[in-house]
Amino acid sequence: MYDVIIIGGGPAGMTAAIYTGRAKLKTLVLEANSIGGNAGWTDQIDNYPGFPFGINGPELMAQFHKQAERFGAEFKMEEVKGIQPLGEEHKVITDKAEYQTRSVIIAMGARRRELKAPGEKEFLGRGVSYCATCDGAFFQGLPVAVVGGGDSAVKEALYLADIASKVYLIHRREEFRANQTSVDKMKADSRIELKLNKIVKRIEGEGLMQRVILEDAASGQEEVLETEGLFVSIGLVAAADFIESILETDDGYIKTDARMVTGVPGIFAAGDIRAKIGRQVATAVGDGAMAAISVTEYLKE
Ligand SMILES: Cc1cc2nc3c(=O)[nH]c(=O)nc-3n(C[C@H](O)[C@H](O)[C@H](O)COP(=O)(O)OP(=O)(O)OC[C@H]3O[C@@H](n4cnc5c(N)ncnc54)[C@H](O)[C@@H]3O)c2cc1C
Repeated sequence: MYDVIIIGGGPAGMTAAIYTGRAKLKTLVLEANSIGGNAGWTDQIDNYPGFPFGINGPELMAQFHKQAERFGAEFKMEEVKGIQPLGEEHKVITDKAEYQTRSVIIAMGARRRELKAPGEKEFLGRGVSYCATCDGAFFQGLPVAVVGGGDSAVKEALYLADIASKVYLIHRREEFRANQTSVDKMKADSRIELKLNKIVKRIEGEGLMQRVILEDAASGQEEVLETEGLFVSIGLVAAADFIESILETDDGYIKTDARMVTGVPGIFAAGDIRAKIGRQVATAVGDGAMAAISVTEYLKE
């Protein structure tokens, strides 16, 4: 029997584990893919306090992990498939085992949104990717494209400019949602060519992806872009498939109050999976700490 099971080993989950571990609660963190979550795939994090010159995502996440383990949190690489709320106890079912716990913190984050364009699934791993830091190195000296207009897309375009022979940034609008400093940096970079007001119509190739067909948002005119990689960076969707049957959600994201309390006693949510504005490492950390404080109070009661 655990005091708390934390689902997800990203910044929110690991911060919660630091707090619950330090409060001497028997803590288990279950992680399906890799410790660090989305932050662990990020090349450079410039806006996390305490690192005036930025820090590499995996390095920052390794520190979180060490700190959580120092306070006794146990980590297991297992994917959670379901939660059964059973009054004062809950059952957490993974791909390998079943666990009993007095409380649960859901910190499953969010995953990349798909374009839903023809060819996207077919060329996944054969040109199409959702993570420049994971797959960028495969495109050394080759032309690539990034789709999106937010911070992540701009960041990925700048990252890929150091690897690829050329980077196209495809965005369906004229204005970017990304912060102005990054947009100015991207616009000043001659290795990045902007394709604005363009929609990805389909992805084509033989075996490997070879081109993207773009459609002009205003005229509907098609354009062929010869590129061997397409990095899709058009936002996130909640990673909460099995959650919707037990908790109240908004567009897939779990609804909580400011104390990270959900509608089910003993189940809390933190980080990017929560219905909120501002999905960042700093906000995930704040959520994780708050969820752990709420769990501690809940278990005392
Ligand atoms: C490309 C990119 C760049 C970014 N750059 C920055 C930046 O510069 N600064 C910044 O502050 N933020 C940045 N972010 C955002 C930041 O990474 C996230 O806000 C943060 O990681 C959210 O933390 P989290 O713990 O809520 O979720 P996540 O980091 O998404 O972690 C959730 C974890 O839960 C695991 N999980 C999911 N489902 C299950 C399951 N069923 N069972 C077990 N485990 C599961 C996942 O594998 C994952 O490891 C960036 C994000 C991306 C994608």
